[in-house]
Amino acid sequence: MEFMKMDAKALQKYKDELMRQYEDFQSQKLKYDMSRGKPCPEQLDLCADMLNLKEYKTADGIDCRNYGGIDGIPEAKQLFSNLLEADPDEIIIGGNSALNMIYDTIAGAMSFGVSAGEIPWGKLPKVKFLCPSPGYDRHFAICELFGIEMIIVDMNSDGPDMDAVERLVAEDEEVKGMICVPKYSNPSGITFSDEVVDRLARMKTKAKDFRIFWDNAYCVHDLNEQGDKLKNLFKACKETGNEDRVYVYTSTSKITFPGAGVAMMASSKANLIQIKKRISIQTIGPDKLNQLRHVKFLKSMENIKEHMKKHAMIIGPKFTAVLDILDTQLKGKEIAWWNKPNGGYFISLDTLDGCAKKVVAMSAEAGVVMTGAGATFPYGKDPRDRNIRIAPTFPSLEELTKAIKVICICIQIVSIDKLLENK
Ligand code: PMP
Repeated sequence: MEFMKMDAKALQKYKDELMRQYEDFQSQKLKYDMSRGKPCPEQLDLCADMLNLKEYKTADGIDCRNYGGIDGIPEAKQLFSNLLEADPDEIIIGGNSALNMIYDTIAGAMSFGVSAGEIPWGKLPKVKFLCPSPGYDRHFAICELFGIEMIIVDMNSDGPDMDAVERLVAEDEEVKGMICVPKYSNPSGITFSDEVVDRLARMKTKAKDFRIFWDNAYCVHDLNEQGDKLKNLFKACKETGNEDRVYVYTSTSKITFPGAGVAMMASSKANLIQIKKRISIQTIGPDKLNQLRHVKFLKSMENIKEHMKKHAMIIGPKFTAVLDILDTQLKGKEIAWWNKPNGGYFISLDTLDGCAKKVVAMSAEAGVVMTGAGATFPYGKDPRDRNIRIAPTFPSLEELTKAIKVICICIQIVSIDKLLENK
């Protein structure tokens, strides 16, 4: 029944029962960490054979044990151009982390500008980024570190509020960038629609050096057969004459090993020239042995898709379990709303306004640690204090089931307190 329709006495009685359940969980001394979207050990085992690969020469005889190959070995560029949906000569294969590449691109823009002749952003009085929110906390942390002012743009069910985006980029020259996760977004799980992609490609920006940081971290991370399709922004930008507008990133962190995967980016030739100049000073070359291992293990795009089905078989049931428990415990009570993603690593849940922080704190007191409330917004401040990021992949199914039950109990208790305040 809708909580709002219950009178104070009924709510109090319901709360007393929930408190008993909560105390029971507390006495179990649970210790679950659901704060980050990490693969579970069974997922990591899927790639165990990759570590046995001993080859070190590329098809054209490059010795991967030695220095060089600043932008990646040819077969890695060939294979991963499929993930980035760009030509092999439009991509750079980097080190182990896409986040690191994003950081480096932003650091480069701050120090040297995004292209020859543009003023380095760090020399400008102010630089602003559009941040579709809720979003990825580590993106926001990078912006904050560089003193980039973050402007929240609402996330709709088909991507960022494009009316707001178009207005902001058209009227304000200080808006130099937008950072986002366009497919199975972290945390809301939504995929930008074709219309959103087209509008991003063709919109008029006041800043000539405006850039979109397109973090396609979950490009092949479907949870079911149907999967979402994301339109290719880089291609759309080329078609509208804005080919320098976008940097596309992804990595194999959640295909093979987080922290020991291969990261990559795609962009226009002009942008890559600028970036490669910087990289060639930063390093004598990336870990080509890891690139070769990945190519030998992953083989082809078809094989990557098959491999991702094995991941889905492990984590799919975890997402289903979370969604089933949310349905049974919370549906119809009008105190929480969540998404059912077709892929990615997260379920995003909204509580009543002003409840998320309390729910996360109360869950932690019962041993269930989640991403801090607010973390999914710039500066760690959720203006409505209502978004909670659930990361179902790492815990076992048994742990997850208990953890979500705890969260559901906490959501109900905190909501009742909130409603009683207003009765
Ligand atoms: N981008 C997004 C949207 C992510 O969710 C994550 C991992 N949580 C990353 C980047 C990190 O990628 P990498 O390991 O390649 O740095």
